[in-house]
Amino acid sequence: MHLARYPRRFIAHLPTPLERMDRLSKELGGPEIWIKRDDCTGLSTGGNKTRKLEFLMAEAEMEGADVVITQGATQSNHARQTAAFAAKLGLQCHLLLEDRTGSNNANYKNNGNVLLDHLHGATTETRPGGADMAAEMEAVAEKMRATGKKVYTIPGGGSNPTGALGYVNCAYELLGQVNNSGTKIDHIVHATGSAGTQAGLITGLKATNANIPLLGIGVRAPKAKQEENVYNLAVKTAEKLGCAGVVSREDVVANTDYVGEGYGIPTAGGMEAIQMFAELESILLDPVYSAKGAAGLIDLIRKGYFKKGERVVFIHTGGAAALFGYDAAFDFSGRWVAN
Ligand SMILES: *Cc1c(COP(=O)(O)O)cnc(C)c1O
Repeated sequence: MHLARYPRRFIAHLPTPLERMDRLSKELGGPEIWIKRDDCTGLSTGGNKTRKLEFLMAEAEMEGADVVITQGATQSNHARQTAAFAAKLGLQCHLLLEDRTGSNNANYKNNGNVLLDHLHGATTETRPGGADMAAEMEAVAEKMRATGKKVYTIPGGGSNPTGALGYVNCAYELLGQVNNSGTKIDHIVHATGSAGTQAGLITGLKATNANIPLLGIGVRAPKAKQEENVYNLAVKTAEKLGCAGVVSREDVVANTDYVGEGYGIPTAGGMEAIQMFAELESILLDPVYSAKGAAGLIDLIRKGYFKKGERVVFIHTGGAAALFGYDAAFDFSGRWVAN
């Protein structure tokens, strides 16, 4: 596999660290838990979309784009990383943000990722929850093209075969780290949403015959739909890489028991995960993605899904910027000391 064949804009801080979480492992008393710090990719508070955007933005530049448009939920980490990447390349960035949660909280609407979108110079417009965001984005792109702009559109989450190459590369990077340090790993776990992260990882793991099971913890779609989305994208990604057929349907496993009420709505398990990671490991999770992924990891450890003596790598996909849009979900009143 030769990823240097594909255009890429090198911006991410790579390789991201791979660290052992001693205090969390001890607290849970199960497997040895490691964390791959893709929250530390470096671009405007980091996150998993930066790896995908290295390939997507290179394609935008090659096509001579002067504007990139993408879409996501109000507190989209993907939108924020796209805005930051575009600023670095001197491209205009326009974002369509879907009001997927219906929250009217002022910080949810203006702080966190939304603040950063605007700081990076992006323009934004909103759509009501349930809008067909792909169609909305295409309509906006057409209007801009009619004014003579050269527009490059990026799908939600940057999840297409070009973006997924970033996570094929992450699979190689992780394998390099564990192979060169004699760290045999038994499982990889991460939060899965628009499917590009899991599709890229499974393609990279299968193409190298790594034989490490990958588990995506869903944040939105039901299991069958999530697995189908990941599988379909993995098939196309493998075709793009010239290794068609390496991924079979059984390789794609998602557990969607931790979504809760819906996308972007915090869960009790997720809030517990945020506090555990922050207090035991000084690592910040976000309520929308990484906390639900970690809630799945924690619950499955408690249920004995992973064995003592095994090593589990949790890929931290980022998102902590969203915490500042979700302050209302926390109650720290018990920690204030009267003076
Ligand atoms: C987008 C995102 C994910 C999910 O990745 P997909 O490639 O969309 O499945 C997970 N965690 C965070 C913090 C994200 O922003």
